Amino acid sequence: MAAPLVQLTRFLAETAGTTPSAPPVRKPSWLKVKAPGGANYVHIKNMMRELGLHTVCEEARCPNIGECWEHKAATFMILGDVCTRNCTYCAVSHGTPKAFDPLEPARLADAVERMGLAHVVITSVDRDDLENGGAEGFAGCVTEIKRRLPETSVEVLIPDFKGSERALAIVMDAKPDILNHNLETAERLYRLARPGGRYDRALTVLANARRLGGPDALTKSGIILGMGEEWDEILVCLRDLRRADVDIVTLGQYLRPTDGHLPVARYYTPDEFAELRDIGMRLGFRHVQASPLTRSSYHAWEQVDGARAQRRSA
Ligand code: SF4
Repeated sequence: MAAPLVQLTRFLAETAGTTPSAPPVRKPSWLKVKAPGGANYVHIKNMMRELGLHTVCEEARCPNIGECWEHKAATFMILGDVCTRNCTYCAVSHGTPKAFDPLEPARLADAVERMGLAHVVITSVDRDDLENGGAEGFAGCVTEIKRRLPETSVEVLIPDFKGSERALAIVMDAKPDILNHNLETAERLYRLARPGGRYDRALTVLANARRLGGPDALTKSGIILGMGEEWDEILVCLRDLRRADVDIVTLGQYLRPTDGHLPVARYYTPDEFAELRDIGMRLGFRHVQASPLTRSSYHAWEQVDGARAQRRSA
């Protein structure tokens, strides 16, 4: 498979006439992870089933599940496990979701308490069938966790709520420590990868979250690389996110969940992720997490600490 032209032109410009090394096209060795199975992993898995909770770690087949669950870090998925949208890179099932469950915040807070988590990430499927897209579910979970565990920081990774500012305000009023909404990919690839989403709308969600949350709120977004974007388009995404005054950005490699999903167009090397991290920091993000296995919630507890420390020293 030929490497994307932009990568060659970038390499050629940088190496001024030297022959560029060909980027890998097979799944490279740096993406191999150990199979999960430690004591904490088994305990958490059993507890999730007992409490009827879903995690994006499992639903999205995240490669970091062994490491994260061993460290007692998990991303909870609220509002069910069936999504009303159908992104071509995502492993979560789509269709008609179950009814809204008002008792979910209490169950989730139970789990967080039992796991003794210091930082919690909550996300959801898209619920375009609900009036406010399920914003009340996010707000309920943040409020209940903070009521029981005031020291625990809570990050919400929200859908775009179809751009509803009212829905976003419901979430922001609950005062999450981090408001995350993923940009996911370059504008050109939205129709292919994220047909139910809009690039501009995602940026507006983030800018509105900054406005509603004020200067103390931390905002965050993520981009998945390898779905066919060009290097320059990644830079455009980063600049657009800075324009929306986003604090934290995550960059990770796209991995095809099944043969029925969008194929991987390119595997980026760890050096390229390091280069993007440096570019991001120069653009002014407070924290950039960039590596092949980075996911929006990967090492999230470090991201919140890092961004806060940066803000204190600013
Ligand atoms: S990176 Fe996020 S989704 Fe993946 S296992 Fe860790 S907490 Fe779960």
